[in-house]
Amino acid sequence: MLEKVLIANRGEIALRVLRACKELHIKTVAVHSVADKDLMHVRLSDESVCIGPPSPTESYLDIASIISAMEVTGSNAVHPGYGFLSENADFAEQVENSGFTFIGPQSETIRLMGDKVSAIEVMRKAGVPTVPGSNGPLDENDDRTLSLAAEIGFPVIIKAAAGGGGRGMRVVHDPTELLKAAKVTSTEAQSFFGSGIVYLEKFLENPRHVEIQIIGDGAGNAIYLGDRDCSLQRRHQKVLEEAPAPGIPDAVRNEVAATCIQACRNMNYRGAGTLEFLYQDERFYFIEMNTRVQVEHPVTEMVTGVDIVKEQLRIASGKPLSITQDQIKIQGHAFECRINAEDPTSFLPSPGKVKLYHAPGGPGVRVDSHLYSGYSVPPYYDSLIAKLISYGNDREQALTKMQIALDELLIDGIKSNIPLQRDLVRDPEFQKGGINIHYLEEKLNS
Ligand code: ADP
Repeated sequence: MLEKVLIANRGEIALRVLRACKELHIKTVAVHSVADKDLMHVRLSDESVCIGPPSPTESYLDIASIISAMEVTGSNAVHPGYGFLSENADFAEQVENSGFTFIGPQSETIRLMGDKVSAIEVMRKAGVPTVPGSNGPLDENDDRTLSLAAEIGFPVIIKAAAGGGGRGMRVVHDPTELLKAAKVTSTEAQSFFGSGIVYLEKFLENPRHVEIQIIGDGAGNAIYLGDRDCSLQRRHQKVLEEAPAPGIPDAVRNEVAATCIQACRNMNYRGAGTLEFLYQDERFYFIEMNTRVQVEHPVTEMVTGVDIVKEQLRIASGKPLSITQDQIKIQGHAFECRINAEDPTSFLPSPGKVKLYHAPGGPGVRVDSHLYSGYSVPPYYDSLIAKLISYGNDREQALTKMQIALDELLIDGIKSNIPLQRDLVRDPEFQKGGINIHYLEEKLNS
């Protein structure tokens, strides 16, 4: 097993990784910005190193600082968490070139999946269902672009190959707007992401967001840990997730899962990964792959009993997966509410001092959070402060437990979206299961 892991992240995920390392008797190094010296995992780690000022570009995104912290502390490996450098192929490459282990896929895999055009091509070749589209970048040939869109049928969506975070996309309803939209999206993509490459897809009108969790051992073996529904979103940001995705026929989910496993085997995929799909009319359409642990991974852990972060650490240590596909049984149901430090109606960030924090508990309740009474939420980073997870024998029981847990949860001193989450878990349409990705925004606007 790895001896010492540097955690190149902050907040709840840094604490999550630290706990997994401790269970496996791996020593931990926390790196933090000046603003984060009081983080819970910094207190609990074996060693800690301050890597720079509050600004993420000068600390958590500073590759040279992180690699020197690895050298100074004699770390063997780095866990990037999610966000920050987790999907930065250059970082993974520099880590490996410096003689350390990157806990995640090979840098070539990250690069391949980071480009949505090449990701779609890899998936199509493995038989994964994709959205009808240009199957490659749009070029200078305007006639070809126009006839392609006409063939697919409007509305279509123009997307940047290097896009992310819900940026670099434009929906086109009318052929007369197509070429202009493609040019504007390309120009924007060039300035945001440093690549002007765009492609075209059919725009699905009322899809759900359903994603498939896989883990590969880097030697051609891969397993599938079921799916998650993350359709409750605001501005493309997930708010509340569940596993398994409700109401999907087993034959449909098993068929798509088999193609995902095949794609990961073909790539010798190493580590945890998620294939994201749009789901409409009982069909899956691949949109992108995330080559890291996701915020919502706990719901999968609850229904499979597999500790995804520990599997990541095992694989990075060169060990085989601890479970086979046959041993994985999806049991019960789980929900995750993301608790953000923000105003529940205006959604403006609400950093500041947490005067009082009380976490709920009881059977089937899990809280992943770095909060404690007296902790100050800094204004420089993502507003996620806690993940409240509930598990029940079935969906209804898991939802009831979540309602009770949300009523018990207390965060005083700053504003949070707890009132919104309390409302959502009592929403009759959400309770039925299977709402689409527009549901939350429509509800908020009504
Ligand atoms: P990002 O990497 O920026 O998150 P994605 O490709 O995952 O980009 O798309 C983000 C969101 O945009 C999706 O969850 C969905 O809401 C919407 N979207 C993307 N492609 C389509 C499509 N073909 N049809 C309808 N909605 C889409």
